[in-house]
Amino acid sequence: MIVTITLNPAVDTCYYVSSFLLGETNRSDQYVKTAGGKGLNVSKVLKQLGADVIATGFLGGTTGQFIAEEVQKKSIISRFTQCKEDTRNCIAIIDQAGQHTEMLERGPKITEEEAKKFFQDLTELYKLREIQAIVASGSIPAGLGKDYYCHLIREAKFRKIPFILDTSGDALKEAIQAEPYLIKPNISEVASLLEREIRTEREVLLALQDEKLRIIPNIVISLGAGGAMARCDKEIYKVIIPTIEVKSPVGSGDAMVAGMAYEITKKSTNEQVLRVGTTCGILNAMHVETGYIDIEKFNMLYKEVQIIRLN
Ligand code: ATP
Repeated sequence: MIVTITLNPAVDTCYYVSSFLLGETNRSDQYVKTAGGKGLNVSKVLKQLGADVIATGFLGGTTGQFIAEEVQKKSIISRFTQCKEDTRNCIAIIDQAGQHTEMLERGPKITEEEAKKFFQDLTELYKLREIQAIVASGSIPAGLGKDYYCHLIREAKFRKIPFILDTSGDALKEAIQAEPYLIKPNISEVASLLEREIRTEREVLLALQDEKLRIIPNIVISLGAGGAMARCDKEIYKVIIPTIEVKSPVGSGDAMVAGMAYEITKKSTNEQVLRVGTTCGILNAMHVETGYIDIEKFNMLYKEVQIIRLN
């Protein structure tokens, strides 16, 4: 059983318009509404891989209700904690020229009691089920401290459950103090974490071995179409991927995290964890839908991913 944590989920609505005009009334007769948030993308991919998954986080209002229903439709077990304020809406507008305009709400402010309740609900889950991994993804909502992930990581460490974290900015900066089992920043996230430019392969290698990150057992830096580089304990790996026809890479990092979490629960080798994670990332990029992998294509792509140990 894998627990996913989405502290700030969203109802993602994507409007397709012929042209988008500022200051005008724009109409759309084609739009898609989905349950979004990085942890929910992870949950969807885990489900497609055949993992048992419990989705947690905060949900509030009718937007929260919409997400709860969508999660249920995908047969994912839902154990969200209720919050008073509404779950956020995130809006994307795509015009015929392919130009994206986004409007992202900040999301609900979580009260102290709600935060406590979430922690209680989570520890209750740990008692009732055998949890083999926890995956926390995305930003921390208002009301919770920047160090909120630290509490969750420490509790998981105490229970000897691997905690996989995919976040950015201050939330990541704070969380590394609590030593999560695995982090998966992309190149700009790791550059911001280490407060320096990272562009070349050598700079990525140096980042993996940086003193600040030494306490983290596993770091995977995803490089989009460039594959990934990773350090698992002292071993350094380069992941080379095949060229594919890309439809939308949005959520590929989430799919990658799902694949790695799944293999971690199976106690697979580092190579296998990286290979399955990468394959899921690529599969996600091959579809427009975020958090969707065509499992039929898994074996074919899996064989084409190369994992090279560099030391
Ligand atoms: P997101 O935040 O949208 O989830 P990310 O920035 O965290 O994404 P990426 O580095 O873009 O993550 O992608 C993760 C993995 O997905 C890559 O290591 C790669 O294996 C695969 N991937 C992403 N983009 C592409 C692409 N254009 N072509 C092939 N594979 C891709």
